[in-house]
Order: sequence, then C-alpha cells, then structure tokens
Amino acid sequence: MTGTTDDRNDPGLGQVDSDTGLQASYLVLSDEERAQGFVRPVRRTYVHQTCGTATTMSLAIAETYARQPGFYGGTYCAGCRDHFPVGEHGQFVWDGTDQKVGS
Ligand SMILES: [Zn+2]
Repeated sequence: MTGTTDDRNDPGLGQVDSDTGLQASYLVLSDEERAQGFVRPVRRTYVHQTCGTATTMSLAIAETYARQPGFYGGTYCAGCRDHFPVGEHGQFVWDGTDQKVGS
C-alpha cells in the first residue's frame, strides 16, 4: 500500500517497491494548501498514451494536481509499473480527454 505525505523529508519518498514500482510515499501539497482552491478540475484517472493503460490516483494527489498542475515532473503507470514524465510534452492525458496531465 502506498501513501502520501506533505513532508519533503519523508523517507518513503525514496523507497520503491520492487514488485509494483510504486514509491512507498508520494509528496502532496498540505491540506491547508489544497483547501485554498483548485485551478483545474479534480480528476483521478489518467491514461498513459504509450501503452493505453488507465491509472487511478489517490484523492490527495488528484487535489494536488488540481491546485498546482505543475507540481509533479512524472507519474506512475500501473501497466508499465514505472514512472514517466507529465506536463505539456509528457506521456499522460486525463481519462476521456486529450488534456495533458500536469498542464
Ligand atoms: Zn504505461
């Protein structure tokens, strides 16, 4: 099971599960920061354009994207079991859209 933290020094950020490729923990904006409002819809599922697999993230990560779209440099694909770039030139779109994750 993977979790989230708003502590940049959380040791889980550097731990990767060798079976799933998931980090033990993912960095998110704090509850207080996320409570200040979103500039994008809160979307939880994205598609890796390279392999076509949809991955659903936890709500705290989805809200972090909605609050600050450029927060992450990459995200996890459940099909590839690895992380790949997001952003304008990244490899992911929000499920059912052609909008790039992280843009
Ligand atoms: Zn993939």
